[in-house]
Amino acid sequence: MAQQQTCNVAIVGAGASGILLAGALVRPPIPLKVILVDPNPGRGPAYGGSDEHHLLNTRAGNMSLDAQSPQGFVDWLNLYRSKPGGWDAEDFAPRRIFGDYLEQRLHNLETRTPGLGSTRVVRSKALSAERGEGGWSIRLTSHERIQADALVLATGVARPRPLLFHGRDEVEAQIQDDPWDDDALKTLPRGAEILLIGTGLTTLDVAAALLRRDPGVRIKAVSRHGLLPRVHASPSPAAPALSPPYPKTARELYAKLRAAAEFVEGDASLRHGVFLNLREIGAKLWAGLPDDERLMFLRHFRRYWEVERHRTPPAQAKVIREAMADGRFEVIRGRLAEAKSLPSGAEARIALLTTDGPRALTVNRVINCTGPEADPFRSRNPLLLDLLAQGAAAADPLGLGLHVDEHCAVLGSSGQVTPGLYAVGAPTQGRFFESTAVNEIRGQTARLADLIVVSAAVHGLTEASPAA
Ligand SMILES: Cc1cc2nc3c(=O)[nH]c(=O)nc-3n(C[C@H](O)[C@H](O)[C@H](O)COP(=O)(O)OP(=O)(O)OC[C@H]3O[C@@H](n4cnc5c(N)ncnc54)[C@H](O)[C@@H]3O)c2cc1C
Repeated sequence: MAQQQTCNVAIVGAGASGILLAGALVRPPIPLKVILVDPNPGRGPAYGGSDEHHLLNTRAGNMSLDAQSPQGFVDWLNLYRSKPGGWDAEDFAPRRIFGDYLEQRLHNLETRTPGLGSTRVVRSKALSAERGEGGWSIRLTSHERIQADALVLATGVARPRPLLFHGRDEVEAQIQDDPWDDDALKTLPRGAEILLIGTGLTTLDVAAALLRRDPGVRIKAVSRHGLLPRVHASPSPAAPALSPPYPKTARELYAKLRAAAEFVEGDASLRHGVFLNLREIGAKLWAGLPDDERLMFLRHFRRYWEVERHRTPPAQAKVIREAMADGRFEVIRGRLAEAKSLPSGAEARIALLTTDGPRALTVNRVINCTGPEADPFRSRNPLLLDLLAQGAAAADPLGLGLHVDEHCAVLGSSGQVTPGLYAVGAPTQGRFFESTAVNEIRGQTARLADLIVVSAAVHGLTEASPAA
């Protein structure tokens, strides 16, 4: 018979979202018992890699796990990962180190004084969940079951959707669909020819890692727009901010942003400031757009938003700039049309359709850098697929994560809230748009924790409570 554990709140996913939520839940006066389920806590795609050169794309001063202490991560770095000259808020720390920070926070939560509630981590994958009289029963790969009053989906981002193109079957050995699989990157021969699909932050990460490891590598990156993320400047506090009434159409929003950007053209610091100010109101802007306008925004303007909003650290930009100057890295506007295998078996012949006409390349590897898969139906996450199949959860109308209300409660296929089921972070992107970075997740998890604590106070705790 499967072993069963009980708790008040089960959080599936112990990345930044799950850890922030657990920290906000386990506090006086309600002694909640929280279980986090994750096979690899703190080590999702963002912070799990082994390359020490992969840097956070956010300054250390914005990565604190404590809203009350914005310097929290900087202080932690200086205490546990000191370096000559020390760390300050403007630094971009290695992502792997942020994973260490998360792991330590989780350890501290687990060893917290009993009586104030408790946090436990179960290192396993959640496969399915059913709702019955006593709340949620969650089945794990370890054959354990967890019984919980509330279930929170903090499952983060999914791996990219596999590339689809004519001839893929023939060149399967040359395709790498997971750009974060560092072991696969390490199998590339010296002086390899690489094609990256996409030109966003993942492309820069992969390209910079490959360029550092092998001066002979030659990389091409292709995307429809051919736009690379902008580089972090020091955002100016004097930058103008968009004020209400906010645009009601995607075109109007884009026109306003364009006008603001043109106004500050030539001043990198003001320009960054303009787009940083959008961070505060991103959710309001998104909420003001009807579904058809959101779709329009996603189709036509999203890329422009992303290159301004999600920037690359200067050190990484330098590696890319230098490689572009000496011809080792090239950006192409176009798309992958077709592929054929070559007799060597180690290379593929790729046909691109570019804005300058057809172009043929011979490459050792095609790497999928198109970004995380947002559609939960395509996520390959067994728990999400199970909840979707039952109708307990539904996809967001635009396929950006799950359908949730303004309190992060998950809506089922009937359009009604599924009792005791919540989501945070990337799965709520359709509702909030900006919900994937630590800065936003911090606020979101604090609000959700308040809601769950109030609900526990009103409805009383079950016997799962350690205080009961
Ligand atoms: C490459 C990359 C770089 C990034 N850089 C930054 C940055 O510099 N700054 C920033 O603020 N944000 C960054 N982000 C955004 C990043 O997603 C968030 O900062 C943060 O990692 C989100 O935390 P999360 O807990 O929501 O997701 P994740 O960190 O992805 O964690 C989700 C966890 O859920 C677990 N999980 C999923 N399904 C199940 C299941 N069925 N059962 C059990 N466990 C499950 C996974 O194992 C994983 O550990 C980056 C994202 C990526 C992909």
